[in-house]
Amino acid sequence: MTSTIDKSKSYFPLAGGANDGWSNEEEATATCFCGAVQLKFPTQGPGFVNAFICNCPDCRKITASMFASNFVIADDHLTHIRGQSNLTKFSQAKTIASGSTMTDYFCQTCGTLMYRVSSRWPGLSVLRIGTVDDFHLHETKLKPTVEQFIEHRVGWFSGGVGVEEKVEGHYHF
Ligand SMILES: [Zn+2]
Ligand SMILES: [Zn+2]
Repeated sequence: MTSTIDKSKSYFPLAGGANDGWSNEEEATATCFCGAVQLKFPTQGPGFVNAFICNCPDCRKITASMFASNFVIADDHLTHIRGQSNLTKFSQAKTIASGSTMTDYFCQTCGTLMYRVSSRWPGLSVLRIGTVDDFHLHETKLKPTVEQFIEHRVGWFSGGVGVEEKVEGHYHF
């Protein structure tokens, strides 16, 4: 046993500038690193669509990590608690296989990518599991069920545990 963290219940480690995240049976918050932007979203359907790991080259670059851990929320269930006017966006279509335009929404203070929106999937936003304040949810309701673009997965990472693997992807886009 190397960890003393009890992951079987809600826990909110101090990460970044805000400490006012919360969760309940139906909803939870996601907050940027500086705390200026906070979202509220449902943790179950119909507003919660799914959660997935993506190894695509865009996700590697945009996260500055080797893969992205994402979840999809229907926009009519997504609430900006604060900071919507503090988001800045960047759009491009060059690297999206379908030719769709992907728009990324960042906190303009700290640079955290809060969500992505594809022109191919109007009404859906792709949020980031790592921005969710209750880390217990990363282990449970937000655990990815699919890992996509495994052909791009870095060789020293063996992938998600108990996750369906797919070549190419559904939400890219
Ligand atoms: Zn921020
Ligand atoms: Zn991706």
